[in-house]
Amino acid sequence: MDIQTIISKLTLEEKAGLCSGLDNWHTKPVERLNISSIMVADGPHGLRKEQPSTGGQTFVPSYPATCFPTASALACSWNRDLLYEIGEALAEECLQEGISVILGPGVNSKRSPLCGRNFEYFSEDPYLSGEMAACYIKGVQRKGIGTSLKHFAANNQEYRRMSINAVVDERALREIYLSAFEKVVKEAQPWTVMCAYNRLNGDYCSENKRLLNEILRDEWGFAGLVMSDWGAVNERVRALSSGLDLEMPGGNRDNDQKIMRAVQNGELDEEVLNKSVARLLKLIFSGTQNKKDGFKYDTDKHHALARKAAAESIVLLKNRDNILPLNPDQRIAVIGDFAKKPRYQGYGSSVVNPTRLDCAFDELLKYTSRSENITYTEGYLGDISENREDLIRKACDAAWQAQVVIVFLGLPDLYETEGMDREDMRLPENQNQIIKALVEVNPNIVVVLNNGSPVEMPWVEDVKGIVEAYLSGQAGGGAIADVLFGIVNPSGKLAETFPLKLEDNPSYHNFPGGPNTVEYRESIYVGYRYYDKAAREVLFPFGYGLSYTSFAYEDLKISKKKIKPGEELDASCTIRNTGKREGKETVQLYIGHSDLSGFYPVRELKDFVKVSLKPGETKKVAFHLNERSFAYYDAQKGAWKIAPGEYQICMGASSRDLKLTQVITIDNEEDVKATEQAVGLINYQSLKGNRFDREAFQVLYRKPLPENRSAKHAKLTLNTPLLDFRESLLGKLVFAILKREFKKQTTPGDNAMHDQMVEKIMLEIPLQNLTNLSGGYFTEKTARALVHIANGEIVAGLKALKSK
Ligand code: BGC
Repeated sequence: MDIQTIISKLTLEEKAGLCSGLDNWHTKPVERLNISSIMVADGPHGLRKEQPSTGGQTFVPSYPATCFPTASALACSWNRDLLYEIGEALAEECLQEGISVILGPGVNSKRSPLCGRNFEYFSEDPYLSGEMAACYIKGVQRKGIGTSLKHFAANNQEYRRMSINAVVDERALREIYLSAFEKVVKEAQPWTVMCAYNRLNGDYCSENKRLLNEILRDEWGFAGLVMSDWGAVNERVRALSSGLDLEMPGGNRDNDQKIMRAVQNGELDEEVLNKSVARLLKLIFSGTQNKKDGFKYDTDKHHALARKAAAESIVLLKNRDNILPLNPDQRIAVIGDFAKKPRYQGYGSSVVNPTRLDCAFDELLKYTSRSENITYTEGYLGDISENREDLIRKACDAAWQAQVVIVFLGLPDLYETEGMDREDMRLPENQNQIIKALVEVNPNIVVVLNNGSPVEMPWVEDVKGIVEAYLSGQAGGGAIADVLFGIVNPSGKLAETFPLKLEDNPSYHNFPGGPNTVEYRESIYVGYRYYDKAAREVLFPFGYGLSYTSFAYEDLKISKKKIKPGEELDASCTIRNTGKREGKETVQLYIGHSDLSGFYPVRELKDFVKVSLKPGETKKVAFHLNERSFAYYDAQKGAWKIAPGEYQICMGASSRDLKLTQVITIDNEEDVKATEQAVGLINYQSLKGNRFDREAFQVLYRKPLPENRSAKHAKLTLNTPLLDFRESLLGKLVFAILKREFKKQTTPGDNAMHDQMVEKIMLEIPLQNLTNLSGGYFTEKTARALVHIANGEIVAGLKALKSK
């Protein structure tokens, strides 16, 4: 039976029912018509298939799966083939576990280093994020498993993530926050897209018609299904008519009934529902087709791939006096809690129960010529920031006797988790202190970092080596040993800028905003686009990373010196390994605007190629540039435009290490230029500071800026996050009741961190979302009653409780 025939046979109730899940992870079946149920599971860097729970609970332990490096690490590989290979491996794990769609990857741009989920995202640059994600998706989907591209869109913080209104000007939206999604949709057609929790320019993403129907489907040609993030639906009927097909998780029957009633009373055209049902059936049929009963993936092979991926993603940030690679005969002191208790993933919905876990110390030990050559001391405790003099003393004793000291530092679990942002960009103080003490006894210090997002490095000048391993998955320990001993020549390049200090970040004065809005006042000047235009010194620039060998860039060739919009361009250079080791280099192509009086970044990444070269070997690297490579988004005209004038085509080893440059001219009869109305009014032109004033942003935004009222005096509603309930006495009471209930519904964690995370997540949840998430346990009626009570409207509250 074809899909249209099936739709004609479905009852209205069945159709409405299909538009929400059966439970946390399944779609609903319709047995009489042989429509089965498919299962989805998180993502993104490994499979989190929950074990059966006793019902309705959240944060249930999951089955073992390979924990690959997180996206923040993988992006540093700049290796498209690797992402494809990981995609295929993830699909195999889905095939074994009967999962039809893996909930990832996430391509949100890194606006601030503080976003608690940055470790799940790729880059501050949408081109790089888009390329990485598109390859991941192609890899997964080639094996007949679907993906869910998330979180669409402008979901760049955890603070008030379910209620905040991200206020983003159209230019920034198109060039920064939508552009990775656009690339992925056009190039890889993910089976599904997951809408974000937050509001974007006023509307919840789950009911944002412009986003879901007009941009995603009509403009970009997305042919798949849109699902909600878990609990993200606000008004169900509005969401459906705005393009949101599937509400997840399931269980909120109120919403299914609302859809039915809306069709019955003519408020919703049944054709809209039919379209969503058609998309659902297409997904369900694709998902069922590929079931492979009894299929088993090779856990050893996947572990080996995780190790290869982690090694390929490690970024060598500093290597003074060629302190690295180590040699097996050196006396090495390994210091730091994380050398034995690896920090290898972040916390939250992406957490994977690894099939095994390498620890860096054990792996280093395997490479030394004699086990007496290597010692371990804790130095600090990874989960607290207190100094322990006794641990420092022992570490100094060990360092004193060693030729090289390898210190493992990183961010504790609680700093990098879904549901909460970091408060600063610092490592815990006890970790900085250990370095301070160690440099006094031994000058040969190498720091290995495990963190999902940049940290400040007050000791950067005092140590000889820095290896940024990010959160590198279950085989990260082995990969770190491979790089430290030179078994693998490091080739990772940063996918984000490391600013000197948090205060330098362009979003610093406007992150995380709240209570109602967060204004993205820095507009398109995100990451290196800001640091370069403002000529700010950074700790490590975007695209930066060292190798144990060296490369020469030569012979830049460009097919034409003059083009017109629409004409394409070929560019190439040769790259030579001038050192003594085999190594890989990522050649990055940036396009720069010669006219910097305009509203443009100094230069932007437009392509990259990673090549492997033997000592002395030369290879040609070729690029192809198209119309979009030169375009900016004209917010007034609502179109991509190309300004006539001169452009620099630059190739280099990082955004600040450009080796070759040539200028080309674009002739365009349409004399356009991105000046934006705001230029001249404000500091957008020079970007000397990062305090972007509201009046200027107002001009850029082109519409009245929404109010950002204080939560204190506002009336509580179904959309108010629970954290604001604590502002009044009765609100506090309601909060306490809910907290008790929430705890009952949550599987207890095995550590204090789990409990803290659960509490933080709860604070961000509005009652509307809680009803959606509760699987029918917490009804909208109760939610309404509690809101009345918290507002002091006791009679109305009791009435609401008694109502039907
Ligand atoms: C997260 C999603 C995730 C979903 C299901 C949400 O809280 O934002 O990324 O896929 O839960 O676990």
